[in-house]
Amino acid sequence: MKDTFTHQGMRKRLVETLKKKGITDKVVLQAINAVPRHLFMDSGFVDHAYVDKAFPIAADQTISQPYTVARQTELLEVKRGDKILEIGTGSGYQTAVLLEMGAVVYSIERQNELFKKTNRFLPKLGYRPKKLIFADGYAGLESEAPFDGIIVTAGAPFVPKPLLAQLKVGGKLVIPVGEHVQIMTVFTRTDDTEFEKEEYGEFRFVPLLEDKE
Ligand code: SAH
Repeated sequence: MKDTFTHQGMRKRLVETLKKKGITDKVVLQAINAVPRHLFMDSGFVDHAYVDKAFPIAADQTISQPYTVARQTELLEVKRGDKILEIGTGSGYQTAVLLEMGAVVYSIERQNELFKKTNRFLPKLGYRPKKLIFADGYAGLESEAPFDGIIVTAGAPFVPKPLLAQLKVGGKLVIPVGEHVQIMTVFTRTDDTEFEKEEYGEFRFVPLLEDKE
């Protein structure tokens, strides 16, 4: 597993592309610059790693487009030491970006094959999430709640209530909501019972699946 100067150069260009597309958060851009995205994809696809596109990984899933990862992470407003729950571990790329930013990360994946693969892979790169969990993300992670932020990386047909309930006051849920096209939606918990909702345009994700097969 290598991260060469060539890869690093390609990553710098990707960061420039993301800036042009409107990403301004320096800490997010630094994290994208630091994580070797090509190692999260099967070898042979290295050429695809640093273009701003989603790409297939195992189990019919995708590694999210870099712009999408950057935008969602920016909207989450992560601070060093924040306790973050991710729904949809997938390749672990988003997890790694959050870890680079100093977050304490819990991440849930419902595909066993991907869960096992990513669980083995992340530590090899020195990325240590607090916990990777093989479970259904619709329920969140009650045992570790409340969280400073929750990020959903698959398209949710509706907003799961447990995810809102597991936010700290001041915490944010960043979730793409919709069936075929998703609206990036941010809920901020303003007190025990109140949430503020903001919308940030259309995105396309693989679906957040409701039933385990
Ligand atoms: N964050 C990932 C994106 C992966 S795509 C990355 O950076 O690569 C979305 C992921 O959500 C897939 O791995 C899919 O298996 C997972 N997923 C779908 N439904 C889920 C559910 N109900 N609970 C947890 N994970 C789910």
